Amino acid sequence: DLPADKIREVEDVVSKRFFPSTYWELLNRIAAYYYTPLIQVIRVALPPGLLGRSQRRLRLTSLGKDQDVSNNTSVFMSPTAQQVLQLLQKTPTGDYSYYYIQQKVKSSYRGTRELIRLGLAENYLEPPRQNQPKLQKAVTLIENNDRDLTPRQREIVEVLRRQGGELWQSELLQICSASTSILKALVEKSYIVIEEREILRREQSPLMAGDQAKSLTNAQTSALELIQSLNGFAQVLLHGVTGSGKTEVYLQAIAPLLNQGKSALVLVPEIGLTPQLTDRFRARFGNRVQVYHSALSDGERYDTWRQMFTGEAQVVIGTRSAIFAPLPNLGLIILDEEHDSSFKQDSPIPTYHARTVAQWRAELENCPLILGSATPSLESWISVKAENTSPPPHLPTSQYLSLPERINSRPLPPVEIVDMRRELQEGNRSIFSRSLQEALEQLQEKKQQGILFIHRRGHSTFVSCRSCGYVLECPNCDVSLSYHHVEEGAPQLLRCHYCNYGRSHPPHCPECSSPYLKFFGSGTQRVAQELNRQFPALKLIRFDSDTTRNKGSHRNLLTQFANKEADLLVGTQMLTKGLDLPQVTLVGVVAADGLLHLSDYRANERTFQTLTQVAGRAGRGEDPGRVIVQTYTPEHPVIEAVKSHDYQSFSNAELEQRQALNYPPYGRLILLRLSSLDPIQVQNTAQIIATNFNDTEGFEILGPAPANILRVANRYRWQILLKFAPDALPNLPDWQEVRALCPSSVSLTIDVDPINI
Ligand code: ADP
Ligand code: ZN
Ligand code: ZN
Repeated sequence: DLPADKIREVEDVVSKRFFPSTYWELLNRIAAYYYTPLIQVIRVALPPGLLGRSQRRLRLTSLGKDQDVSNNTSVFMSPTAQQVLQLLQKTPTGDYSYYYIQQKVKSSYRGTRELIRLGLAENYLEPPRQNQPKLQKAVTLIENNDRDLTPRQREIVEVLRRQGGELWQSELLQICSASTSILKALVEKSYIVIEEREILRREQSPLMAGDQAKSLTNAQTSALELIQSLNGFAQVLLHGVTGSGKTEVYLQAIAPLLNQGKSALVLVPEIGLTPQLTDRFRARFGNRVQVYHSALSDGERYDTWRQMFTGEAQVVIGTRSAIFAPLPNLGLIILDEEHDSSFKQDSPIPTYHARTVAQWRAELENCPLILGSATPSLESWISVKAENTSPPPHLPTSQYLSLPERINSRPLPPVEIVDMRRELQEGNRSIFSRSLQEALEQLQEKKQQGILFIHRRGHSTFVSCRSCGYVLECPNCDVSLSYHHVEEGAPQLLRCHYCNYGRSHPPHCPECSSPYLKFFGSGTQRVAQELNRQFPALKLIRFDSDTTRNKGSHRNLLTQFANKEADLLVGTQMLTKGLDLPQVTLVGVVAADGLLHLSDYRANERTFQTLTQVAGRAGRGEDPGRVIVQTYTPEHPVIEAVKSHDYQSFSNAELEQRQALNYPPYGRLILLRLSSLDPIQVQNTAQIIATNFNDTEGFEILGPAPANILRVANRYRWQILLKFAPDALPNLPDWQEVRALCPSSVSLTIDVDPINI
C-alpha cells in the first residue's frame, strides 16, 4: 500500500537461496520486540558486504578545484567549510566519503552544505560494493605425454606432474620463472586446463592434536544424560562452579549430534577467551568447527557465513552476532558464561540480547538451549522453578543442572579480603597490600603463576595539576583524559577512553603553567610499572585492549603465558572470562571498589560475577589456589558473598531488592537514548517525549535525565527510562509517533531491556 514513488527497483539478487521459514520468523520477531525496521535486523544477521551499503560521498566541482582557500576574499566561507574544502583539495580525486569527512572535521555537515550551496562541491551516492568470493587460478594437467612439446613447455608439464597434476597458476609460474603466454600455448594444445577456484578466507588456526572424550565425573554424567534425554525445545541452566568441567559437557553433548548430521552453535562472551575454547573444540571435532566474530576480516566473515549457510560448517563458535549463524538443522545452542553483559548490544539497533534471541531461536528450531555459568544472571536463576517460587510469567522456565564441585574434587580457592584502609593506617602506602606483596614474592620461588586483575586499562585514570587542581579533559567528551605511558623518551600520551581522542602530555598545566602535574588512579600500565619497580625479577604480560589490539595477539600472549615465559598476567575484564590456565595459583584484585561504584542497579550483580569469575582462575591445576581481594569496603555484602563463594544467598538477597523496586527480572525496562550535537534541542526533545508518556497507564517514567556522561564525541546525551510490569506492555505508545517527535538533528535509540543505564 505504498505510493509507487516510494518503492525502489530490485538492484541485485545477492543469493539464490532462501532463509528457512523459521529463520525468517526469528528475524521478524526481533524486529517487533526491539522496535527495529526489519532491514536493520537483516543487516545484523548477514555478514558485512553481502548486502553492501551505498555510501554518500562529496566531491569537488571544477569551481571547487580552482578555489584558492588561502585567499578568502572572492567567496566568503565559514572556517568549517574552508576545512572541508582543504581536505578535498588535498586528495588527487577531490572526493571523500561523508563518513571520513565527519571523522576529520567536526561539525562538518554545516560546512558541507555550505560548499554545495556555493557550487564548490556536490554530493553523490556511490552504489553498494558487494563482497565477492576470492578466486584463484588453478592449473590442471590433462594430457600426460610429452609429444611435440618445446623444452620450456615440457618443463612445465614435468613440474605439474611432480606436483600430482595440479598447482595454483601463480605458484607454477614462480617455480618455472615462466609467463602466462606459455600456459596459453599449453591450453591451446589441450595439455592443461586453467580454471578459477574459490579460496576460502578463514581464520588460520594452529594444527590441533586430536583429543578424546574424557570419562565424566558423576555430576557431569547426570548433566549429560539429562541433556541427551531432551527431545526438542527446552532451556537448561548448567550452573557449574569455575573449573567444574562445563566445557567437557558441551563437547560430549555436541558429539552425537554431528554424527546425526545436525549442527551446534556455541556462543561465548569475547574473543579474548575464544582461542582457548576454539582450540578445545578443534582438537575434538577438527575442521568441522568454524569461528565467527567481529574481529574477523570482512572477507573471512563473508566466506564463513556462506559455509554456515550451506551446512559445511557444523559447529560454530562465536560472539554475540553469531546467534544469527544460518546453520541448517540446528541441534543445540549453548550460551557459555551466559551472565556476561557483552551478549547485549547497546547500539546500534536492534539492541538485542543474544540470550533472548537464543531462546526464540531454540524454540523455533525445536532444539535445546544450554545456559552455562558459574554465576548465572538473575534472569536465568529465577527461570528455574524452585519449590515455592516460580518464574515471572514473561520469562521461560529452565531445568536446573548443577556441577557443584571442581574436577578431581579440587577445592575452590580461599578468598582473602584485605582492608586497604588498615594497610594505610599501618604505614603501607604501596598499591599492593602486604599479603599480596608476600604472595608475589613467593610466586617465583614456587615456580607458579599469577593473575592480577585491574579495573582500568592505561596508566592513570586522570591527570591533575597539584597547584591549581585543573584536570585535563577531553575536548569532545565530559570525561578526564587517561594517561598512557608509551615508552621512555617517546612523547607521552593522554587518551580519551570514550572517543579515542589523543594528545601529547603537556609539560605544564594549561591553566596556571605549574610544572606539577600528577597522575591519579591506577590502570594496568601503572600497576605494571609499580610491579617492575617493586619486583624487578617478576616477568609480566599485560593483557588488556591496548596490548591485544592486533589480530592474533590474544592467542600469542596467552600462549607465551602458558609456556611460562612470564610469571604474571596483568589485565582487565578480559582475563576474567573462562581462561583455563592450570599453573595459575594466585589471583589478585588490586581494587575491587572501582566495580562496586558503578551507578546502575546491576552494579552488585556485575561485581559479584566479575570477582567470582576472576577468583575462579586460581587453583585449577594440581596446586591449590589463593585469591587476594583488596578493597576499601570489606564489609560490603557483595564482597562477603565473594569471600564465601555463596552464589545462592547473594542472588536471593539481590532478587528481593529487585522485586521490591520492580526492577528486572520482575519488572521490565525500556531506555530511550537521545543524542544530538545541539545541547538545547536534545534536552527539549527529551522533555517533550517524556510528557507524551505521562498519561500512559502502568508505566513509571524516570527522567528525562542527562546520561551518566552528558557529552561523548561532542554529542549531548539524554535519556528516559520506562519501568513497567510485563503485563503493561500492550499499553506502550506507538513508536512511530514517538520518533516523529524527534527533529532530524536528534537521534533516538530505543534500548529494550537495557543493561547499561
Ligand atoms: P569449566 O568450563 O566449568 O570452567 P572446564 O571444562 O574448563 O571447566 O574444566 C576444567 C579442567 O578440567 C579442564 O582442564 C578440563 O580439561 C578438565 N576436565 C573436565 N572434565 C574432566 C573429566 N571428566 N576428567 C578429567 N579432567 C576433566
Ligand atoms: Zn594548574
Ligand atoms: Zn572523548
